[in-house]
Amino acid sequence: MLHEALYSAIVCLAVFLGYRFARYRLSSELFLAQQVKPLLNRLKRISGASEPAEICGHEIQGLDAFLQQLAFQHDLLKDVVQTISEGILILQNGAILFVNQAVMKMLNIPGGLEQWHGRPFLEFCRHLTVQNGLAAWQNYKEKQVVVLELQTAVLEVEICGIANDSLVLLLWRDITPISNAEAHGRELVANVAHQLRTPITVIRGYAETLLDNESCDAAALKRFLEVILRNSKRLSRFIEDILTIAMLDSKGLTQKEEMSLDELLKSVLEMAGEEARAKGVRIQVQNELKHDLLLSASSLLEQAVFNVLHNAVKYTKPDSMVRVVVTAFNERVILRISDQGPGIPKEMQRLVFERFFRMSDGPASQIPGSGLGLAIAKEVIVAHGGSIYVESEGNGRGSTFVMELPLSMSE
Ligand code: ADP
Repeated sequence: MLHEALYSAIVCLAVFLGYRFARYRLSSELFLAQQVKPLLNRLKRISGASEPAEICGHEIQGLDAFLQQLAFQHDLLKDVVQTISEGILILQNGAILFVNQAVMKMLNIPGGLEQWHGRPFLEFCRHLTVQNGLAAWQNYKEKQVVVLELQTAVLEVEICGIANDSLVLLLWRDITPISNAEAHGRELVANVAHQLRTPITVIRGYAETLLDNESCDAAALKRFLEVILRNSKRLSRFIEDILTIAMLDSKGLTQKEEMSLDELLKSVLEMAGEEARAKGVRIQVQNELKHDLLLSASSLLEQAVFNVLHNAVKYTKPDSMVRVVVTAFNERVILRISDQGPGIPKEMQRLVFERFFRMSDGPASQIPGSGLGLAIAKEVIVAHGGSIYVESEGNGRGSTFVMELPLSMSE
Protein backbone atom coordinates (compact mmCIF):
# COMPACT_ATOMS: atom_id res chain seq x y z
CA MET A 1 0.00 0.00 0.00
CA LEU A 2 2.74 2.38 1.06
CA HIS A 3 4.60 1.50 -2.13
CA GLU A 4 1.60 2.45 -4.34
CA ALA A 5 1.01 5.64 -2.38
CA LEU A 6 4.63 6.68 -2.80
CA TYR A 7 4.61 5.81 -6.49
CA SER A 8 1.53 7.94 -7.17
CA ALA A 9 3.07 10.74 -5.08
CA ILE A 10 6.13 10.67 -7.37
CA VAL A 11 4.00 10.71 -10.53
CA CYS A 12 1.95 13.62 -9.18
CA LEU A 13 5.15 15.44 -8.26
CA ALA A 14 6.57 14.94 -11.79
CA VAL A 15 3.35 16.22 -13.42
CA PHE A 16 3.23 19.14 -11.01
CA LEU A 17 6.87 19.92 -11.72
CA GLY A 18 6.43 19.84 -15.50
CA TYR A 19 3.42 22.12 -15.25
CA ARG A 20 5.09 24.61 -12.91
CA PHE A 21 8.31 24.61 -14.88
CA ALA A 22 6.48 25.25 -18.14
CA ARG A 23 4.53 28.14 -16.60
CA TYR A 24 7.22 29.72 -14.55
CA ARG A 25 10.32 28.77 -16.41
CA LEU A 26 12.14 31.91 -15.39
CA SER A 27 11.40 31.57 -11.72
CA SER A 28 11.96 27.84 -11.57
CA GLU A 29 15.08 28.05 -9.43
CA LEU A 30 13.13 29.74 -6.68
CA PHE A 31 10.30 27.33 -7.18
CA LEU A 32 12.62 24.33 -6.99
CA ALA A 33 14.29 25.65 -3.91
CA GLN A 34 11.12 26.61 -2.09
CA GLN A 35 8.67 23.86 -2.95
CA VAL A 36 10.04 20.83 -4.68
CA LYS A 37 13.34 20.21 -2.95
CA PRO A 38 11.82 19.81 0.53
CA LEU A 39 9.19 17.48 -0.91
CA LEU A 40 11.87 15.40 -2.56
CA ASN A 41 13.93 15.29 0.61
CA ARG A 42 10.90 14.04 2.48
CA LEU A 43 10.33 11.35 -0.12
CA LYS A 44 13.99 10.35 0.16
CA ARG A 45 13.70 10.13 3.92
CA ILE A 46 10.62 7.95 3.61
CA SER A 47 12.24 5.72 0.99
CA GLY A 48 15.31 5.23 3.19
CA ALA A 49 13.19 4.48 6.23
CA SER A 50 10.73 1.87 5.00
CA GLU A 51 11.09 -1.38 3.18
CA PRO A 52 8.46 -0.90 0.35
CA ALA A 53 9.70 2.60 -0.40
CA GLU A 54 13.13 1.25 -1.34
CA ILE A 55 11.48 -0.49 -4.27
CA CYS A 56 10.78 2.87 -5.88
CA GLY A 57 14.17 4.34 -4.87
CA HIS A 58 15.31 4.46 -8.51
CA GLU A 59 12.24 6.58 -9.46
CA ILE A 60 13.24 9.03 -6.75
CA GLN A 61 16.80 9.08 -8.05
CA GLY A 62 15.50 9.65 -11.58
CA LEU A 63 13.38 12.52 -10.33
CA ASP A 64 16.35 13.96 -8.50
CA ALA A 65 18.44 13.85 -11.70
CA PHE A 66 15.55 15.41 -13.60
CA LEU A 67 15.34 18.23 -11.06
CA GLN A 68 19.07 18.83 -11.26
CA GLN A 69 18.89 18.96 -15.02
CA LEU A 70 16.01 21.44 -14.78
CA ALA A 71 18.01 23.59 -12.39
CA PHE A 72 21.04 23.41 -14.72
CA GLN A 73 18.92 24.36 -17.73
CA HIS A 74 17.37 27.14 -15.73
CA ASP A 75 20.77 28.54 -14.73
CA LEU A 76 21.94 28.29 -18.32
CA LEU A 77 18.84 30.07 -19.59
CA LYS A 78 19.19 32.73 -16.92
CA ASP A 79 22.83 33.35 -17.85
CA VAL A 80 22.03 33.55 -21.56
CA VAL A 81 19.10 35.91 -20.97
CA GLN A 82 21.20 38.17 -18.75
CA THR A 83 24.23 38.14 -21.05
CA ILE A 84 22.69 38.76 -24.49
CA SER A 85 22.76 42.29 -25.80
CA GLU A 86 19.07 42.13 -26.79
CA GLY A 87 16.70 43.37 -24.13
CA ILE A 88 13.92 41.08 -22.85
CA LEU A 89 10.99 42.29 -20.81
CA ILE A 90 7.87 40.24 -19.99
CA LEU A 91 4.63 41.78 -18.76
CA GLN A 92 1.75 40.16 -16.97
CA ASN A 93 -1.37 42.31 -16.61
CA GLY A 94 0.66 45.46 -17.17
CA ALA A 95 3.22 44.59 -14.46
CA ILE A 96 6.82 43.48 -14.96
CA LEU A 97 7.21 39.72 -14.63
CA PHE A 98 10.77 39.67 -15.93
CA VAL A 99 13.33 42.16 -17.22
CA ASN A 100 16.94 41.56 -18.17
CA GLN A 101 20.00 43.72 -17.65
CA ALA A 102 20.17 44.80 -21.32
CA VAL A 103 16.85 46.69 -21.13
CA MET A 104 17.97 48.49 -17.97
CA LYS A 105 21.20 49.48 -19.71
CA MET A 106 19.49 50.63 -22.92
CA LEU A 107 17.04 52.81 -21.00
CA ASN A 108 19.72 53.89 -18.56
CA ILE A 109 17.65 52.78 -15.57
CA PRO A 110 19.62 52.49 -12.33
CA GLY A 111 18.98 49.91 -9.61
CA GLY A 112 18.73 46.13 -9.52
CA LEU A 113 16.50 43.92 -11.61
CA GLU A 114 14.68 42.51 -8.57
CA GLN A 115 13.27 45.85 -7.53
CA TRP A 116 11.24 46.03 -10.75
CA HIS A 117 9.59 42.65 -10.40
CA GLY A 118 5.81 43.13 -10.07
CA ARG A 119 5.97 46.93 -10.60
CA PRO A 120 3.76 48.59 -13.28
CA PHE A 121 5.45 48.92 -16.68
CA LEU A 122 4.34 52.56 -16.83
CA GLU A 123 6.70 53.32 -13.95
CA PHE A 124 9.56 51.63 -15.76
CA CYS A 125 9.12 53.17 -19.20
CA ARG A 126 7.00 56.23 -19.87
CA HIS A 127 7.98 56.69 -23.52
CA LEU A 128 4.84 57.32 -25.52
CA THR A 129 6.07 55.36 -28.56
CA VAL A 130 6.36 52.18 -26.51
CA GLN A 131 3.10 52.80 -24.65
CA ASN A 132 1.32 53.32 -27.99
CA GLY A 133 2.85 50.12 -29.38
CA LEU A 134 1.65 48.26 -26.31
CA ALA A 135 -1.86 49.71 -26.68
CA ALA A 136 -1.88 48.69 -30.37
CA TRP A 137 -0.87 45.14 -29.41
CA GLN A 138 -3.64 45.03 -26.81
CA ASN A 139 -6.20 46.20 -29.40
CA TYR A 140 -5.21 44.00 -32.35
CA LYS A 141 -3.22 41.17 -30.72
CA GLU A 142 -0.75 41.47 -33.59
CA LYS A 143 3.03 41.87 -33.36
CA GLN A 144 4.03 45.55 -33.21
CA VAL A 145 7.45 47.05 -33.97
CA VAL A 146 8.19 50.57 -32.77
CA VAL A 147 11.33 52.69 -32.96
CA LEU A 148 12.24 54.67 -29.89
CA GLU A 149 14.58 57.61 -30.48
CA LEU A 150 16.42 58.54 -27.31
CA GLN A 151 18.95 61.34 -27.02
CA THR A 152 21.94 59.04 -27.30
CA ALA A 153 20.51 55.89 -28.87
CA VAL A 154 17.87 54.53 -31.22
CA LEU A 155 16.03 51.41 -29.99
CA GLU A 156 13.75 49.05 -31.87
CA VAL A 157 11.08 47.42 -29.69
CA GLU A 158 9.17 44.35 -30.87
CA ILE A 159 5.96 43.70 -28.93
CA CYS A 160 4.17 40.35 -29.14
CA GLY A 161 2.09 37.98 -27.07
CA ILE A 162 3.38 34.73 -25.57
CA ALA A 163 1.78 31.90 -23.55
CA ASN A 164 -1.50 32.23 -25.49
CA ASP A 165 -1.32 36.01 -25.20
CA SER A 166 -1.52 35.83 -21.41
CA LEU A 167 1.91 37.51 -21.25
CA VAL A 168 3.43 40.26 -23.38
CA LEU A 169 7.02 39.99 -24.57
CA LEU A 170 8.96 43.16 -25.42
CA LEU A 171 12.20 42.56 -27.31
CA TRP A 172 14.58 45.55 -27.34
CA ARG A 173 17.34 46.03 -29.88
CA ASP A 174 19.88 48.86 -30.02
CA ILE A 175 19.86 49.93 -33.67
CA THR A 176 21.94 53.11 -33.17
CA PRO A 177 24.80 51.99 -35.50
CA ILE A 178 22.34 51.04 -38.29
CA SER A 179 20.43 54.24 -37.85
CA ASN A 180 23.68 56.26 -37.83
CA ALA A 181 24.86 54.50 -40.98
CA GLU A 182 21.56 55.33 -42.70
CA ALA A 183 21.77 58.97 -41.61
CA HIS A 184 25.42 59.05 -42.72
CA GLY A 185 24.42 57.60 -46.12
CA ARG A 186 21.69 60.24 -46.56
CA GLU A 187 24.12 62.99 -45.56
CA LEU A 188 26.72 61.65 -47.99
CA VAL A 189 24.26 61.66 -50.91
CA ALA A 190 23.16 65.22 -50.02
CA ASN A 191 26.79 66.40 -49.75
CA VAL A 192 27.85 64.75 -53.00
CA ALA A 193 24.82 66.19 -54.84
CA HIS A 194 25.60 69.64 -53.40
CA GLN A 195 29.27 69.44 -54.45
CA LEU A 196 28.42 68.27 -57.98
CA ARG A 197 25.68 70.81 -58.60
CA THR A 198 27.78 74.00 -58.73
CA PRO A 199 30.46 72.92 -61.27
CA ILE A 200 27.91 71.10 -63.44
CA THR A 201 25.62 74.17 -63.49
CA VAL A 202 28.57 76.41 -64.43
CA ILE A 203 29.79 74.08 -67.20
CA ARG A 204 26.30 73.74 -68.61
CA GLY A 205 25.62 77.49 -68.44
CA TYR A 206 28.83 78.42 -70.24
CA ALA A 207 28.45 75.68 -72.87
CA GLU A 208 24.89 76.87 -73.63
CA THR A 209 26.07 80.51 -73.88
CA LEU A 210 28.77 79.46 -76.34
CA LEU A 211 26.23 77.56 -78.47
CA ASP A 212 23.81 80.51 -78.48
CA ASN A 213 26.54 83.04 -79.41
CA GLU A 214 28.24 81.66 -82.47
CA SER A 215 29.74 85.07 -83.26
CA CYS A 216 31.52 85.25 -79.87
CA ASP A 217 35.00 86.86 -80.19
CA ALA A 218 38.20 84.89 -79.58
CA ALA A 219 38.96 86.48 -76.17
CA ALA A 220 35.44 85.71 -74.83
CA LEU A 221 35.62 82.20 -76.27
CA LYS A 222 38.93 81.63 -74.44
CA ARG A 223 37.51 82.99 -71.19
CA PHE A 224 34.43 80.77 -71.42
CA LEU A 225 36.49 77.69 -72.22
CA GLU A 226 38.80 78.42 -69.29
CA VAL A 227 35.79 78.51 -66.94
CA ILE A 228 34.57 75.20 -68.37
CA LEU A 229 38.04 73.66 -67.96
CA ARG A 230 38.44 74.95 -64.38
CA ASN A 231 35.09 73.52 -63.35
CA SER A 232 35.72 70.17 -65.05
CA LYS A 233 39.02 69.96 -63.13
CA ARG A 234 37.11 70.71 -59.93
CA LEU A 235 34.64 67.94 -60.78
CA SER A 236 37.33 65.38 -61.46
CA ARG A 237 39.22 66.34 -58.26
CA PHE A 238 36.03 65.85 -56.29
CA ILE A 239 35.36 62.47 -57.89
CA GLU A 240 38.97 61.44 -57.12
CA ASP A 241 38.44 62.45 -53.47
CA ILE A 242 35.19 60.49 -53.24
CA LEU A 243 36.91 57.42 -54.72
CA THR A 244 39.78 57.77 -52.23
CA ILE A 245 37.32 58.01 -49.33
CA ALA A 246 35.43 54.95 -50.63
CA MET A 247 38.72 53.05 -50.94
CA LEU A 248 39.79 54.00 -47.40
CA ASP A 249 36.41 52.83 -46.08
CA SER A 250 36.40 49.53 -47.92
CA LYS A 251 40.02 48.37 -48.23
CA GLY A 252 41.97 50.67 -45.96
CA LEU A 253 45.46 51.51 -47.13
CA THR A 254 47.04 50.02 -50.22
CA GLN A 255 50.25 48.09 -49.61
CA LYS A 256 53.05 50.08 -47.98
CA GLU A 257 56.47 50.34 -49.50
CA GLU A 258 59.65 52.14 -48.55
CA MET A 259 59.53 55.69 -49.90
CA SER A 260 62.26 58.30 -49.90
CA LEU A 261 61.21 61.49 -48.11
CA ASP A 262 63.08 63.60 -50.70
CA GLU A 263 61.14 61.89 -53.52
CA LEU A 264 57.84 62.47 -51.73
CA LEU A 265 58.59 66.16 -51.20
CA LYS A 266 59.77 66.63 -54.79
CA SER A 267 56.60 65.05 -56.12
CA VAL A 268 54.16 67.11 -53.98
CA LEU A 269 56.06 70.34 -54.72
CA GLU A 270 55.79 69.62 -58.44
CA MET A 271 52.07 68.93 -58.15
CA ALA A 272 51.39 72.17 -56.22
CA GLY A 273 53.78 74.25 -58.35
CA GLU A 274 51.43 75.15 -61.20
CA GLU A 275 48.70 76.58 -58.99
CA ALA A 276 51.27 78.41 -56.84
CA ARG A 277 52.83 80.08 -59.91
CA ALA A 278 49.41 81.07 -61.25
CA LYS A 279 48.64 82.80 -57.94
CA GLY A 280 52.07 84.33 -57.53
CA VAL A 281 52.74 82.22 -54.41
CA ARG A 282 56.32 81.24 -53.61
CA ILE A 283 56.85 77.89 -51.91
CA GLN A 284 59.95 78.01 -49.73
CA VAL A 285 61.38 74.71 -48.50
CA GLN A 286 63.63 74.54 -45.43
CA ASN A 287 64.88 70.97 -45.08
CA GLU A 288 66.89 70.61 -41.83
CA LEU A 289 67.70 66.92 -42.32
CA LYS A 290 71.33 65.99 -43.00
CA HIS A 291 70.39 63.15 -45.34
CA ASP A 292 67.38 61.61 -47.00
CA LEU A 293 65.15 59.39 -44.80
CA LEU A 294 62.93 56.42 -45.62
CA LEU A 295 59.21 56.26 -44.83
CA SER A 296 57.05 53.18 -44.94
CA ALA A 297 54.25 54.60 -47.07
CA SER A 298 51.36 53.74 -49.34
CA SER A 299 50.78 55.79 -52.47
CA LEU A 300 48.08 57.70 -50.58
CA LEU A 301 50.62 59.36 -48.29
CA GLU A 302 51.78 61.51 -51.18
CA GLN A 303 48.18 62.63 -51.75
CA ALA A 304 47.74 63.39 -48.03
CA VAL A 305 50.78 65.70 -47.93
CA PHE A 306 49.76 67.25 -51.26
CA ASN A 307 46.24 68.03 -49.93
CA VAL A 308 47.76 70.04 -47.06
CA LEU A 309 50.24 71.87 -49.31
CA HIS A 310 47.52 72.48 -51.91
CA ASN A 311 45.29 74.04 -49.23
CA ALA A 312 48.13 76.31 -48.10
CA VAL A 313 48.52 77.58 -51.69
CA LYS A 314 44.75 77.79 -52.17
CA TYR A 315 43.98 79.72 -48.97
CA THR A 316 47.11 81.91 -48.68
CA LYS A 317 46.98 85.53 -49.92
CA PRO A 318 47.92 86.04 -53.60
CA ASP A 319 51.62 86.87 -54.06
CA SER A 320 52.46 85.63 -50.57
CA MET A 321 54.65 82.80 -49.33
CA VAL A 322 54.07 79.21 -48.21
CA ARG A 323 56.81 77.64 -46.06
CA VAL A 324 57.60 73.96 -45.78
CA VAL A 325 59.91 73.07 -42.87
CA VAL A 326 61.24 69.51 -42.56
CA THR A 327 62.77 68.21 -39.32
CA ALA A 328 63.04 64.87 -37.52
CA PHE A 329 62.53 63.99 -33.89
CA ASN A 330 62.25 60.67 -32.04
CA GLU A 331 62.17 58.44 -35.14
CA ARG A 332 59.57 60.72 -36.69
CA VAL A 333 59.70 63.14 -39.60
CA ILE A 334 57.97 66.44 -38.87
CA LEU A 335 56.56 68.50 -41.74
CA ARG A 336 55.30 72.00 -40.99
CA ILE A 337 53.42 73.78 -43.77
CA SER A 338 52.64 77.45 -43.03
CA ASP A 339 50.67 79.94 -45.08
CA GLN A 340 49.69 83.59 -44.88
CA GLY A 341 45.97 83.01 -45.32
CA PRO A 342 42.93 83.81 -43.17
CA GLY A 343 43.89 81.31 -40.44
CA ILE A 344 41.54 78.93 -38.68
CA PRO A 345 39.80 79.94 -35.42
CA LYS A 346 40.56 77.67 -32.43
CA GLU A 347 37.02 76.24 -32.21
CA MET A 348 37.20 75.11 -35.87
CA GLN A 349 40.63 73.50 -35.68
CA ARG A 350 39.32 70.01 -34.89
CA LEU A 351 36.35 70.29 -37.27
CA VAL A 352 38.39 71.03 -40.40
CA PHE A 353 39.50 67.36 -40.38
CA GLU A 354 35.89 66.10 -40.56
CA ARG A 355 34.54 64.84 -43.86
CA PHE A 356 32.70 67.54 -45.87
CA PHE A 357 33.39 70.25 -43.29
CA ARG A 358 33.81 73.70 -44.86
CA MET A 359 33.97 77.04 -43.12
CA SER A 360 30.54 78.69 -43.46
CA ASP A 361 31.78 82.28 -43.27
CA GLY A 362 35.02 84.25 -43.54
CA PRO A 363 37.38 84.47 -46.52
CA ALA A 364 38.06 80.68 -46.69
CA SER A 365 34.35 79.99 -47.31
CA GLN A 366 34.52 82.02 -50.57
CA ILE A 367 37.07 79.63 -52.09
CA PRO A 368 35.53 76.52 -53.70
CA GLY A 369 36.35 73.10 -52.28
CA SER A 370 34.81 69.77 -51.36
CA GLY A 371 35.60 69.60 -47.63
CA LEU A 372 37.32 66.24 -48.18
CA GLY A 373 41.01 67.16 -48.56
CA LEU A 374 41.92 67.39 -44.87
CA ALA A 375 39.68 64.42 -43.92
CA ILE A 376 41.58 62.27 -46.43
CA ALA A 377 44.92 63.66 -45.20
CA LYS A 378 44.09 62.86 -41.58
CA GLU A 379 42.71 59.36 -42.23
CA VAL A 380 45.74 58.42 -44.35
CA ILE A 381 48.31 59.88 -41.94
CA VAL A 382 46.70 58.24 -38.90
CA ALA A 383 46.59 54.91 -40.78
CA HIS A 384 50.37 55.30 -41.27
CA GLY A 385 50.82 55.67 -37.51
CA GLY A 386 51.33 59.43 -37.79
CA SER A 387 49.38 62.49 -36.69
CA ILE A 388 48.26 65.85 -38.04
CA TYR A 389 47.04 69.02 -36.36
CA VAL A 390 46.77 72.71 -37.07
CA GLU A 391 48.18 75.71 -35.22
CA SER A 392 46.59 79.06 -35.95
CA GLU A 393 45.62 82.30 -34.25
CA GLY A 394 42.83 82.85 -36.83
CA ASN A 395 41.95 86.43 -37.83
CA GLY A 396 44.06 86.56 -40.99
CA ARG A 397 47.22 85.44 -39.18
CA GLY A 398 47.79 82.32 -41.28
CA SER A 399 47.83 78.61 -40.41
CA THR A 400 50.51 76.01 -39.80
CA PHE A 401 49.65 72.38 -40.43
CA VAL A 402 51.96 69.98 -38.59
CA MET A 403 52.33 66.38 -39.82
CA GLU A 404 54.33 63.76 -37.91
CA LEU A 405 55.22 60.61 -39.81
CA PRO A 406 57.02 57.54 -38.44
CA LEU A 407 60.21 56.48 -40.19
CA SER A 408 60.51 53.09 -41.87
CA MET A 409 61.76 50.35 -39.48
CA SER A 410 64.83 49.82 -41.62
CA GLU A 411 65.89 53.45 -41.19
P1 ADP B 1 38.34 72.04 -49.07
O1 ADP B 1 38.25 71.27 -50.33
O2 ADP B 1 37.08 72.76 -48.74
O3 ADP B 1 39.55 72.89 -48.99
P2 ADP B 1 39.53 70.61 -46.87
O4 ADP B 1 39.08 69.38 -46.18
O5 ADP B 1 40.85 70.58 -47.51
O6 ADP B 1 38.41 70.94 -47.92
O7 ADP B 1 39.48 71.79 -45.84
C1 ADP B 1 38.34 71.95 -45.00
C2 ADP B 1 38.13 73.41 -44.64
O8 ADP B 1 39.19 73.83 -43.78
C3 ADP B 1 38.21 74.34 -45.84
O9 ADP B 1 36.96 74.47 -46.46
C4 ADP B 1 38.71 75.63 -45.20
O10 ADP B 1 37.60 76.32 -44.69
C5 ADP B 1 39.55 75.16 -44.05
N1 ADP B 1 41.00 75.17 -44.40
C6 ADP B 1 41.76 74.13 -44.80
N2 ADP B 1 43.04 74.50 -44.99
C7 ADP B 1 43.10 75.80 -44.68
C8 ADP B 1 44.15 76.78 -44.67
N3 ADP B 1 45.40 76.46 -45.00
N4 ADP B 1 43.82 78.04 -44.29
C9 ADP B 1 42.58 78.36 -43.92
N5 ADP B 1 41.53 77.50 -43.92
C10 ADP B 1 41.79 76.25 -44.30
